[in-house]
Amino acid sequence: MADANEHGIIPDVKTCTVCGKQYTRRKGYGFRQWAASTTCSRNCSVAIVNANRVWPTQRERFEAKVDRSLGQGPEGTCHEWKGHRTKWGYGSFKVGTAVKKAHRVAYELYCGEVPSDQMVLHSCDNPPCCNPDHLSLGDQVKNMQEKRLRGRNRNRGEKKLPRVNGDPDGMPIPGDLRHLSVY
Ligand SMILES: [Zn+2]
Ligand SMILES: [Zn+2]
Repeated sequence: MADANEHGIIPDVKTCTVCGKQYTRRKGYGFRQWAASTTCSRNCSVAIVNANRVWPTQRERFEAKVDRSLGQGPEGTCHEWKGHRTKWGYGSFKVGTAVKKAHRVAYELYCGEVPSDQMVLHSCDNPPCCNPDHLSLGDQVKNMQEKRLRGRNRNRGEKKLPRVNGDPDGMPIPGDLRHLSVY
């Protein structure tokens, strides 16, 4: 007995889209199940699932965790890591059993290899940033020099304030608005 749907009559015999064999409606198959069926057997339907499965590559997995929308970081052009972060704010990315820093993986993906004696540094000073344009190679000495230049050691994660009245922490004196001017 043939069933009808909005597309017309569904025959009781179909041709398997995988192996090409003809097969008949299985006992217990409801109308919808039979209408949706394209394979003769479980083996053939598994073959379709496997053929359509796209195993996410490392790069796809990585890029799915990077937010490229505008307005992030000090210049508004950072691409911040949305996944797990270390206590210092760096992104963590699992590669096999190893856990790598996300910005380092970003450098490897878009810029090239990182020599073992080199670090991947942020020109934006924004640890979760994975924008390759903000990443460069350097060593520990260069990293500390750059941090010192930016005053990051003192004001991690805060807007850098110019020193006021020789206060070593650069903290403004209440009521003193000079720190708001841009020098
Ligand atoms: Zn088949
Ligand atoms: Zn950045």
